[in-house]
Amino acid sequence: MPDDGSVDKEGNAVDTEPADAFALVGNETRAEILRVLGEDPWEGLSFSELRSRAAPDMDSGQFNYHLQQLVGQFVRHTDDGYEMRPAGATLYRTVRAGTFNRRASVEPFDAGFDCYFCGAGVEASYDDGMFDLSCSGCSHVYSRTMAPPSAVEGVDPEDLLARIDQYNRHNMLAFARGVCPICVNGLDREFMPGEEAWTEGAERFDVFVRHTCDHCGNTHYMTVGLSLLYRPSLVCFFSERGLDVTDVPHWELPFVMTDRDLTVRSDDPWEVAFETTYDDDRLALVVDEDLTFVEEPAVTVAE
Ligand SMILES: [Zn+2]
Ligand SMILES: [Zn+2]
Repeated sequence: MPDDGSVDKEGNAVDTEPADAFALVGNETRAEILRVLGEDPWEGLSFSELRSRAAPDMDSGQFNYHLQQLVGQFVRHTDDGYEMRPAGATLYRTVRAGTFNRRASVEPFDAGFDCYFCGAGVEASYDDGMFDLSCSGCSHVYSRTMAPPSAVEGVDPEDLLARIDQYNRHNMLAFARGVCPICVNGLDREFMPGEEAWTEGAERFDVFVRHTCDHCGNTHYMTVGLSLLYRPSLVCFFSERGLDVTDVPHWELPFVMTDRDLTVRSDDPWEVAFETTYDDDRLALVVDEDLTFVEEPAVTVAE
């Protein structure tokens, strides 16, 4: 049984300080135990089998000491043997994707659309764990995505762009619905003038939406257009006119990447009108800071 307080008398995991959790894995043997268990997360391993795979030359007392450090926090001991707890599996997958120990970069390449602000080509690039879409002319940042090196190593640019689009959509939908995609906490949502948003290029916007998670510390900024992207009325409006906004890269949708279809009616309390056109038909709606409709979506068909 570990003596660091990570389990109670019955062997159940209890809360520990973040520094303690990091310290637990700061050891070669413990890292190796997690690697071995991570390779077969659904299969319990007996003590002797685990030792023979992770540290065959270590005496069993010493090995047991390291193993018990992990039990509770990252590993559990059941009738089937030792197996990963979800926290251990998360750590294993993050390490395996190369997040901590590998470096990769991708030279800037054409992202396939022009800047909505200056008309220059927008470029995609990847370095230091961050995938960026930014304008080659005015440097406006369209998107920043944290991704592990395994996401970009040896892949085709088109394929990479398509995956980044889908991954971002998945995260943004969670944010727009008020759920943190990292820790499943409920989020605080706040409208703010673009110039107060701590994100590059936001000063070009009259209004930005900030989501903050007080559990994991995640903060995410997005446009009002993005926040509305999956509303049925909006998806239907475009779909009926032949454009599937859930499928095209979201950065190719001007109403998502700019606020030219928005009018701030009031900033106390916030009330924002959204009005967009497609094939001369018009969709109009008004939302408040909760993204609740103050005025229901209305479609006007061109004569
Ligand atoms: Zn530009
Ligand atoms: Zn969170």
